[in-house]
Amino acid sequence: MKSHDVRKQFLDFFQSKGHLIVPSAPIVLKDDPTLMFNNSGMAQFKEYFLGNGTPKSQRIADTQKCLRVSGKHNDLEDVGFDTYHHTMFEMLGNWSFGDYFKKEAINWAWELLTEVYKIPKENLYVSVFEGNPDENVPFDQEAWDLWKELIDEDRIILGNKKDNFWEMGDQGPCGPCSEIHVDLRSAEEKALVSGKSLVNNDHPQVVEIWNNVFMEFNRKADGSLEKLPAQHVDTGMGFERLCMALQGKTSNYDTDVFSPLIEKVEQITGLQYTSNEIQNISEEQNKINIAIRVVADHVRAVAFAIADGQLPSNTGAGYVIRRILRRAIRYGFTFLNTKEPFIYQLVAVLSNQLSEFFPEIKSQQTLVTNVIREEEASFLRTLDQGLQLLENVMNQTTGTEISGEKAFELYDTFGFPIDLTALILRERGYQLDEVGFEKAMQEQKSRSRAASEVSTEDWSVLIPGNVETFVGYDQTENEVKISRIRKI
Ligand code: ATP
Ligand code: MG
Ligand code: MG
Ligand code: MG
Repeated sequence: MKSHDVRKQFLDFFQSKGHLIVPSAPIVLKDDPTLMFNNSGMAQFKEYFLGNGTPKSQRIADTQKCLRVSGKHNDLEDVGFDTYHHTMFEMLGNWSFGDYFKKEAINWAWELLTEVYKIPKENLYVSVFEGNPDENVPFDQEAWDLWKELIDEDRIILGNKKDNFWEMGDQGPCGPCSEIHVDLRSAEEKALVSGKSLVNNDHPQVVEIWNNVFMEFNRKADGSLEKLPAQHVDTGMGFERLCMALQGKTSNYDTDVFSPLIEKVEQITGLQYTSNEIQNISEEQNKINIAIRVVADHVRAVAFAIADGQLPSNTGAGYVIRRILRRAIRYGFTFLNTKEPFIYQLVAVLSNQLSEFFPEIKSQQTLVTNVIREEEASFLRTLDQGLQLLENVMNQTTGTEISGEKAFELYDTFGFPIDLTALILRERGYQLDEVGFEKAMQEQKSRSRAASEVSTEDWSVLIPGNVETFVGYDQTENEVKISRIRKI
């Protein structure tokens, strides 16, 4: 089944169940000072869950462009290394605003997956919230009973608060989730290790595809829970992962969501990408594969952000976009040997693929192409010199820690985002003196402004009066924080 049809069938299915189909909200949030990018389907509806405003319909479904590169949901460091986390992805979702609840949500999810998409039941696992007496939240008996009617009991997993309970913040609507996971391993592998033990364990072929959140409670200021008068359903399914499952692949990058982009990169670079099915590839080919995945992933994030009005810049959301693009440019430069701008050529491919569902990518195609080409040209002017400087620094360093001052010089003079420098160092077995970097950054800035953000769960709370100084989770104007550095 082509990805185009996968998306369409999802929307048709929920339309047939009385849902209003709405367009995706922009990927960039301009009016929400607490969240830079849409990172889930429900973000555009959050006010309804808080009781402010009335939705156009009590049942809504859509596909939402999401970006998970900052804040609570930051998958950037996994992208390219694994085969199922992206920066930008589509989240298919259905919502009930005070209308249907667990029974319909669970039964419809199952009907869609097993009868419409025809995923074999023996490839699926589901999870149910186990309860947490310390926090006063009960086991989700109702979901358990509903699933038991549909799936073998030994395929139902009890999940903890981290994976199976959703809350917006310390207070407000919250409730248990049921997640659906798919096991795409071969029969031989399944016989050796049970899929159940691999759920939520970072196995690349046993992956979470759909999260069903049941907003059942309101958490009060004293921490206690009360039942919400009107209960809501909020679901999110990873479109690219669903396509992987339905197209018989074991990597999102082997689906037709990514193959046209990958083919274009192959054509431009003369290099080959090896599909996930091919075993025993060389170290060098592995690096090429990672770089191609990074480029094919990142161009989507950057192109959609620009199409939605967020140009790359030196602050806030614009800097997040610039960082993502520079990361892709450097992967190309180092591993794909691309010394000239090339990523901009992928925009036409994206536009061909996606303009039916996301017309903005076609209407903004010229602007997006030109901006990316300019950004590439400008970073390529200093990239080589910067890489040489870094090479010299590594050669001159005894031990494995690289000075923060040098990293700051790369940032300041050569335009190397700090996470890019950290990534390159990590590839070579070095670490960065983050404290030294931040100190150098502070010293250079004469105006020092206090960071104004207090992170909660999905949203941040701003200290009143400081709103204009807030430019993002990972970067405030005078301070760059490295949010998460994964050791590889
Ligand atoms: P995971 O545990 O795999 O990181 P999650 O629990 O963080 O996923 P949710 O917040 O529950 O994800 O989002 C709903 C669905 O969106 C997930 O079930 C998954 O299919 C998809 N999804 C989440 N993050 C990504 C991503 N970075 N790239 C692609 N799909 C994603
Ligand atoms: Mg996640
Ligand atoms: Mg998860
Ligand atoms: Mg989840």
